[in-house]
Amino acid sequence: MELIPACVRYLLFPTYLRFIGSEQLPQYRRLVKSQFLPEEELRRRQCTAVQDMLRYVHDHNRFYRRRLRELGATPDDFRSMADFEHFPLLTKDDLREHADELLSDGWDVSSLMRKRTGGSTGVPVHLYKDLRASRIKAGVTMRHDEWAHFQVGMKKAALWGDVKPRTSLWHRLTDALYNRTIYLDTLEMDDRSMLDFAEAIRRTSTQLLFGHGHSLYHFARFLRDRRVTNLKLKGIISSAEMLPPAERRVVEEVFGNVVFDRYGCEEVGLIASECERHDGMHVAAEGVYIEILDGTEEVPGRVVVTDLLNHATPILRYEIGDLALTKPGPCTCGRGLPRIGRVIGRTSDFLYTPEGRQISGISLLDTVIIHIPGFRRAQVVQESLDSLTFNVVKGEGFSDASLRMLAAAVTKYFGPSMTHKVVMVDTIPLTGRGKFQFSICKVRPTR
Ligand SMILES: [Zn+2]
Repeated sequence: MELIPACVRYLLFPTYLRFIGSEQLPQYRRLVKSQFLPEEELRRRQCTAVQDMLRYVHDHNRFYRRRLRELGATPDDFRSMADFEHFPLLTKDDLREHADELLSDGWDVSSLMRKRTGGSTGVPVHLYKDLRASRIKAGVTMRHDEWAHFQVGMKKAALWGDVKPRTSLWHRLTDALYNRTIYLDTLEMDDRSMLDFAEAIRRTSTQLLFGHGHSLYHFARFLRDRRVTNLKLKGIISSAEMLPPAERRVVEEVFGNVVFDRYGCEEVGLIASECERHDGMHVAAEGVYIEILDGTEEVPGRVVVTDLLNHATPILRYEIGDLALTKPGPCTCGRGLPRIGRVIGRTSDFLYTPEGRQISGISLLDTVIIHIPGFRRAQVVQESLDSLTFNVVKGEGFSDASLRMLAAAVTKYFGPSMTHKVVMVDTIPLTGRGKFQFSICKVRPTR
């Protein structure tokens, strides 16, 4: 056992948490046990938590009190999860327009954690998380990290966006002892920085890599093309972006079967992640309740989440804007935590045919774009219903045949009346938070 991680995990970290009065560790220990409870018991507890939350918002939250009044209902009318399905959905617009009303009574905002999310519209949403909820959620993250062989105090590498330099003495100390992270900013992923990053991982024998889905793919493909084969990782946690199957296969080709997909959002934190069986994602059911509206194992449905912990800005039946598959039945790992299937994409990822039919941007990326030789990176922008612009970063193997493949795919998926142009670019800008957005759709069909 390495000395620093053991010292951090068993001594410094628990001492620090006790010092600040955090209940993260006892909660984590409870969560380690509760993951193996039978699914029915976990679902029963979720139902109780929803009923408690409804009573809380009725007494302490102006926004939901108004909703209940408009519905002509009281918290006691919701006796089962089937009843809860009649509770109105919360939208991103609600969060944006009613932020003040959504803050529960009696909270001093200076004692709360403020969360800001960008979203595809670029208009930020603000909400607050109370400290107790945040600490339990930190315990949830610890538990799910361990599924990917990561424990507090271990070294890790991260392909992340929006990495801010930290200079204070306290931050330098926690970075050296606790975070121990080698970063590569996804906004700065050029050949030189990727080679340096790979070398730093190898030199420090780092075995865990966190990253945005598409950046992991981009990094893995770079290593494959450069024939860099000396990186041995035990776990790769892919989050914050979809990792479509074809891209995942490339990451696994380079690193082996060590990818742990994770799904979450700024508004509620970690929602679900893969266990060591890599068969769907277990929902962090002690903290969130997930519904997939109109979804099946084959047909993606809209993801709706209820936060069972946060009382400051309660999130009840929030439509995140993502699509996911369901995953019924127990997992062979023995955990009772229910599962969901793959997250297919954001509803905002969709493009349209001239006739107004939806085409999933992420599927186009997965089934066509990444297979075109010489397309190092690509992005599609739809400015009008009958035209697409592909921004392409050229790589090795690019030829006229690459453009012909793209043209054939456009006709196949969007029909003969769709026009397109290709713009060769040096880089494709990422979003403000360092995420890659493959498809940007600026139109909505009027139907
Ligand atoms: Zn499992």
